[in-house]
Amino acid sequence: MTERIYNFSAGPAALPLPVLEQAQQDLISLGDTGIGVLEHSHRSKAFLAVYEQAEGLCREIASVPDNYKVLFLQGGASTQFFMIPMNLLSKDQTADYLVTGSWSKKAVKEAKLFGNVNIACNSEDKNFSYIPSEVALSEQPAYVHFTSNNTIYGTEFASEPEVPAGVPLVCDASSDIFSRPIDISKYGIVYAGAQKNLGPSGMAVVIIRDDLIEQGPTDIPTMMQYRTHSEAGSMFNTPPTFGIYVLGRVLQWLKDQGGLAAMGQKNQAKAGKLYDYLDQSQLFKPTAAKQDRSLMNVTFVTGDADLDAKFIAQATAAGLDGLKGHRSVGGMRASIYNAFPEAGIDKLLSMMNEFEQEHA
Ligand code: PMP
Repeated sequence: MTERIYNFSAGPAALPLPVLEQAQQDLISLGDTGIGVLEHSHRSKAFLAVYEQAEGLCREIASVPDNYKVLFLQGGASTQFFMIPMNLLSKDQTADYLVTGSWSKKAVKEAKLFGNVNIACNSEDKNFSYIPSEVALSEQPAYVHFTSNNTIYGTEFASEPEVPAGVPLVCDASSDIFSRPIDISKYGIVYAGAQKNLGPSGMAVVIIRDDLIEQGPTDIPTMMQYRTHSEAGSMFNTPPTFGIYVLGRVLQWLKDQGGLAAMGQKNQAKAGKLYDYLDQSQLFKPTAAKQDRSLMNVTFVTGDADLDAKFIAQATAAGLDGLKGHRSVGGMRASIYNAFPEAGIDKLLSMMNEFEQEHA
């Protein structure tokens, strides 16, 4: 078998090796059923057990309260950008959006199709390198939306923004879901594309409070109503079965690692190593404001695009893949989600050290 290399991709991203190995077996025969996981009917007993395990683990790991549903939907996080306002925002209402990166901007664009949008804060003035400390909410927002981790810019909310009682807080947690403890009861909706911390792309995990499901309109397409998926246990139509299967395996792995608190500590330690190095480096500079740094996406530059390119090429040759930063930031981005091994960070650090000796 080809040797696996360190994959710093921002998403789809590295998954735990034991999960992939298990999936390899289950592709041929899920347990002792003699039918592969991709081939099982979503209504089969074997698949229902897979579904129930994934949903149950999701609830258990994040202590999801009873008055929330966990839905597995298709169309990735981007579908949630419009499905949320389609269900929660009407023409005469205003939703508040905290704009901290390109993904929040994309969410705003969709919301404007359904109602008014108040930009409660915006950090575009400094290329989204920080999380604004001042948030100006409107009088009575239908909901407040924020992006907990900004995948491209390497910033992350240290904690959730304050909202007045009764106003649903909606979070795009695509790039940091289950990377640390989360108090679901503070949110109306938490959603995430699965392809970073949870599993394959194409699926979104949506954790949504019951009253928000019920308040949605009934005169929008059936597939676009949360109630459809809630009432059918995410099985109104054929759900993303493979995504649900991998999610279940990843969550079991996460539980075996000690759950969200332990994962949070590991992620602190992993990112901390990189930031400690960056803070004393004479060559590499972190791009995000110190207090707002992401534990998931560590962005840095040398300040010289040619040198950045040289470093990325050398890193790639040494088996460190996916370090090229997004074009809107440039430089490098190390995406180090839950499943990214600490040994890969150590290897990156030793490469950076060597490169710095040569070029600083
Ligand atoms: N939100 C964030 C924070 C993201 O990082 C991404 C994807 N990188 C998305 C939304 C879009 O997700 P999807 O591709 O699943 O639609």
